[in-house]
Amino acid sequence: MPDSHAFLPPALPLMNDWNIQGRASACQSCGQKFADRQPYHSLLWEEERRYRRLDVCVACWEAQYLQEARTRREVVSYWRGIYEAPPPPAEPIRRDAAETLLRQLCERADPQYRPATYILAVMLERKRVLKVKEQFWRDGQRVFVYEHTRNGDVFTVPDPALKLGELEAVQRTVAQLLEQGLPPAMSGPDPAPATPDATGAEAVPSDSRVEPAPSGS
Ligand SMILES: [Zn+2]
Repeated sequence: MPDSHAFLPPALPLMNDWNIQGRASACQSCGQKFADRQPYHSLLWEEERRYRRLDVCVACWEAQYLQEARTRREVVSYWRGIYEAPPPPAEPIRRDAAETLLRQLCERADPQYRPATYILAVMLERKRVLKVKEQFWRDGQRVFVYEHTRNGDVFTVPDPALKLGELEAVQRTVAQLLEQGLPPAMSGPDPAPATPDATGAEAVPSDSRVEPAPSGS
Protein backbone atom coordinates (compact mmCIF):
# COMPACT_ATOMS: atom_id res chain seq x y z
CA MET A 1 0.00 0.00 0.00
CA PRO A 2 1.53 3.40 -0.94
CA ASP A 3 2.10 5.80 1.90
CA SER A 4 -0.56 8.45 1.46
CA HIS A 5 1.37 10.79 3.71
CA ALA A 6 4.55 10.69 1.66
CA PHE A 7 4.06 14.34 0.69
CA LEU A 8 4.13 15.52 4.29
CA PRO A 9 7.26 16.95 5.90
CA PRO A 10 8.83 14.12 7.89
CA ALA A 11 8.92 16.22 11.04
CA LEU A 12 5.13 16.43 11.20
CA PRO A 13 3.97 13.96 13.84
CA LEU A 14 0.86 12.93 11.97
CA MET A 15 -0.41 9.43 12.49
CA ASN A 16 -2.00 7.82 9.49
CA ASP A 17 -4.99 6.89 11.55
CA TRP A 18 -7.53 6.55 8.77
CA ASN A 19 -6.20 3.18 7.88
CA ILE A 20 -8.38 0.45 6.43
CA GLN A 21 -6.98 -3.01 6.91
CA GLY A 22 -8.53 -6.18 5.66
CA ARG A 23 -8.78 -9.36 7.66
CA ALA A 24 -6.21 -12.03 6.92
CA SER A 25 -7.46 -15.40 5.67
CA ALA A 26 -4.70 -17.25 7.52
CA CYS A 27 -2.81 -16.84 10.78
CA GLN A 28 -0.10 -14.25 10.13
CA SER A 29 2.22 -16.01 12.56
CA CYS A 30 2.03 -19.74 11.77
CA GLY A 31 0.36 -19.46 8.38
CA GLN A 32 -2.48 -21.87 9.09
CA LYS A 33 -5.61 -20.98 7.12
CA PHE A 34 -8.60 -19.83 9.12
CA ALA A 35 -11.68 -22.03 8.90
CA ASP A 36 -15.19 -20.60 8.72
CA ARG A 37 -16.41 -19.50 12.20
CA GLN A 38 -12.95 -19.98 13.69
CA PRO A 39 -12.06 -17.53 16.48
CA TYR A 40 -8.94 -15.42 15.95
CA HIS A 41 -7.21 -12.51 17.66
CA SER A 42 -6.28 -9.18 16.11
CA LEU A 43 -3.56 -6.85 17.29
CA LEU A 44 -3.00 -3.32 16.12
CA TRP A 45 0.67 -2.37 16.12
CA GLU A 46 2.03 1.09 15.82
CA GLU A 47 4.84 0.98 13.34
CA GLU A 48 6.64 4.00 11.95
CA ARG A 49 3.61 6.17 12.68
CA ARG A 50 1.23 3.81 10.94
CA TYR A 51 -1.01 1.13 12.29
CA ARG A 52 -0.47 -2.42 11.20
CA ARG A 53 -3.01 -5.12 11.83
CA LEU A 54 -1.94 -8.64 12.72
CA ASP A 55 -4.42 -11.53 12.81
CA VAL A 56 -3.32 -14.69 14.60
CA CYS A 57 -4.89 -18.02 15.51
CA VAL A 58 -5.80 -18.90 19.08
CA ALA A 59 -2.77 -21.17 19.50
CA CYS A 60 -0.31 -18.44 18.44
CA TRP A 61 -2.19 -15.90 20.55
CA GLU A 62 -1.85 -18.01 23.65
CA ALA A 63 1.72 -19.06 22.94
CA GLN A 64 3.09 -15.61 22.19
CA TYR A 65 0.87 -12.69 21.34
CA LEU A 66 -1.25 -12.47 24.46
CA GLN A 67 1.92 -11.67 26.35
CA GLU A 68 3.08 -9.20 23.69
CA ALA A 69 -0.30 -7.48 23.61
CA ARG A 70 -0.09 -6.92 27.34
CA THR A 71 3.51 -5.81 27.51
CA ARG A 72 4.58 -4.23 24.21
CA ARG A 73 4.02 -0.50 23.97
CA GLU A 74 3.64 -0.72 20.20
CA VAL A 75 0.46 -2.75 20.58
CA VAL A 76 -2.16 -0.02 20.78
CA SER A 77 -5.22 -2.27 20.68
CA TYR A 78 -6.29 -5.88 20.42
CA TRP A 79 -9.53 -7.78 20.19
CA ARG A 80 -11.03 -11.15 19.38
CA GLY A 81 -13.00 -11.95 16.26
CA ILE A 82 -14.71 -14.79 14.49
CA TYR A 83 -13.47 -15.54 11.00
CA GLU A 84 -16.15 -15.78 8.35
CA ALA A 85 -15.29 -17.38 5.07
CA PRO A 86 -15.80 -14.88 2.21
CA PRO A 87 -18.98 -15.31 0.18
CA PRO A 88 -18.68 -17.22 -3.07
CA PRO A 89 -17.40 -14.91 -5.82
CA ALA A 90 -20.69 -15.16 -7.74
CA GLU A 91 -22.44 -13.23 -4.99
CA PRO A 92 -22.50 -9.54 -5.93
CA ILE A 93 -20.95 -7.20 -3.41
CA ARG A 94 -23.60 -4.75 -2.32
CA ARG A 95 -22.04 -1.74 -0.82
CA ASP A 96 -23.82 1.10 0.84
CA ALA A 97 -23.17 4.61 -0.53
CA ALA A 98 -22.08 5.67 2.96
CA GLU A 99 -19.62 2.78 3.12
CA THR A 100 -18.18 3.64 -0.29
CA LEU A 101 -17.72 7.24 0.83
CA LEU A 102 -16.11 6.18 4.11
CA ARG A 103 -13.58 4.07 2.20
CA GLN A 104 -12.81 6.99 -0.11
CA LEU A 105 -12.33 9.32 2.85
CA CYS A 106 -10.06 6.83 4.60
CA GLU A 107 -7.94 6.55 1.48
CA ARG A 108 -7.84 10.32 1.00
CA ALA A 109 -6.84 10.89 4.65
CA ASP A 110 -7.50 14.62 4.36
CA PRO A 111 -7.69 16.25 7.82
CA GLN A 112 -10.53 18.54 6.72
CA TYR A 113 -12.78 15.48 6.37
CA ARG A 114 -11.92 14.06 9.79
CA PRO A 115 -15.29 15.04 11.37
CA ALA A 116 -17.23 13.76 8.32
CA THR A 117 -15.32 10.47 8.45
CA TYR A 118 -16.29 10.01 12.06
CA ILE A 119 -19.98 10.82 11.45
CA LEU A 120 -20.09 8.33 8.56
CA ALA A 121 -18.61 5.64 10.78
CA VAL A 122 -21.28 6.34 13.39
CA MET A 123 -23.98 6.14 10.69
CA LEU A 124 -22.64 2.79 9.53
CA GLU A 125 -22.47 1.57 13.11
CA ARG A 126 -26.20 2.37 13.42
CA LYS A 127 -26.88 0.39 10.26
CA ARG A 128 -24.84 -2.47 11.74
CA VAL A 129 -22.42 -2.35 8.82
CA LEU A 130 -19.62 -1.51 11.27
CA LYS A 131 -19.09 -2.43 14.87
CA VAL A 132 -16.78 -0.77 17.39
CA LYS A 133 -14.29 -3.42 18.43
CA GLU A 134 -11.94 -1.36 20.52
CA GLN A 135 -10.81 2.15 21.24
CA PHE A 136 -7.49 3.56 22.31
CA TRP A 137 -5.80 6.88 22.94
CA ARG A 138 -3.02 8.21 20.78
CA ASP A 139 -1.42 11.64 21.06
CA GLY A 140 -4.22 12.82 23.34
CA GLN A 141 -6.88 11.72 20.92
CA ARG A 142 -9.29 8.82 21.07
CA VAL A 143 -9.24 6.44 18.11
CA PHE A 144 -12.09 4.03 17.45
CA VAL A 145 -11.36 0.65 15.92
CA TYR A 146 -14.34 -0.22 13.73
CA GLU A 147 -14.72 -3.65 12.18
CA HIS A 148 -16.88 -4.38 9.18
CA THR A 149 -19.43 -6.94 10.38
CA ARG A 150 -19.36 -8.96 7.15
CA ASN A 151 -15.83 -8.92 5.79
CA GLY A 152 -13.80 -8.04 8.90
CA ASP A 153 -12.10 -4.97 7.39
CA VAL A 154 -10.85 -2.70 10.13
CA PHE A 155 -11.16 1.09 10.01
CA THR A 156 -9.30 3.19 12.54
CA VAL A 157 -11.27 6.41 12.92
CA PRO A 158 -10.11 9.21 15.23
CA ASP A 159 -12.72 10.87 17.40
CA PRO A 160 -12.81 14.52 16.25
CA ALA A 161 -14.19 15.52 19.68
CA LEU A 162 -17.02 17.42 18.03
CA LYS A 163 -18.77 20.07 20.00
CA LEU A 164 -22.55 20.01 19.92
CA GLY A 165 -22.66 23.23 17.93
CA GLU A 166 -20.46 21.73 15.18
CA LEU A 167 -22.58 18.67 14.55
CA GLU A 168 -25.08 20.23 12.19
CA ALA A 169 -22.42 21.62 9.87
CA VAL A 170 -20.67 18.24 9.75
CA GLN A 171 -23.93 16.48 8.97
CA ARG A 172 -24.51 18.93 6.13
CA THR A 173 -21.04 18.15 4.80
CA VAL A 174 -21.77 14.42 4.95
CA ALA A 175 -25.12 14.85 3.17
CA GLN A 176 -23.42 16.93 0.49
CA LEU A 177 -20.62 14.39 0.02
CA LEU A 178 -23.15 11.55 -0.23
CA GLU A 179 -25.09 13.49 -2.83
CA GLN A 180 -22.27 14.95 -4.89
CA GLY A 181 -19.35 12.66 -4.17
CA LEU A 182 -15.90 13.54 -2.96
CA PRO A 183 -14.34 16.44 -4.89
CA PRO A 184 -11.03 15.66 -6.61
CA ALA A 185 -7.98 15.81 -4.34
CA MET A 186 -5.98 19.00 -4.48
CA SER A 187 -2.49 18.40 -5.74
CA GLY A 188 0.58 20.37 -4.86
CA PRO A 189 2.29 21.22 -1.61
CA ASP A 190 -0.49 23.43 -0.21
CA PRO A 191 -0.88 22.76 3.47
CA ALA A 192 -4.16 21.20 4.50
CA PRO A 193 -6.68 23.62 5.96
CA ALA A 194 -6.50 23.86 9.71
CA THR A 195 -9.14 21.97 11.62
CA PRO A 196 -10.39 22.99 15.04
CA ASP A 197 -8.08 21.89 17.78
CA ALA A 198 -9.54 18.69 19.15
CA THR A 199 -7.83 19.23 22.46
CA GLY A 200 -9.55 22.59 23.08
CA ALA A 201 -10.85 23.23 26.55
CA GLU A 202 -14.42 23.32 25.27
CA ALA A 203 -14.31 19.82 23.92
CA VAL A 204 -17.06 17.54 25.20
CA PRO A 205 -16.07 15.26 28.09
CA SER A 206 -14.00 12.37 26.89
CA ASP A 207 -16.52 9.74 27.95
CA SER A 208 -19.37 11.19 25.93
CA ARG A 209 -19.70 10.91 22.20
CA VAL A 210 -21.49 13.50 20.13
CA GLU A 211 -23.58 11.58 17.67
CA PRO A 212 -25.98 12.52 14.93
CA ALA A 213 -29.67 12.10 15.51
CA PRO A 214 -31.08 8.84 14.10
CA SER A 215 -31.95 9.36 10.46
CA GLY A 216 -34.93 7.03 10.60
CA SER A 217 -33.87 5.17 7.49
ZN1 LIG B 1 -1.10 -19.40 14.26
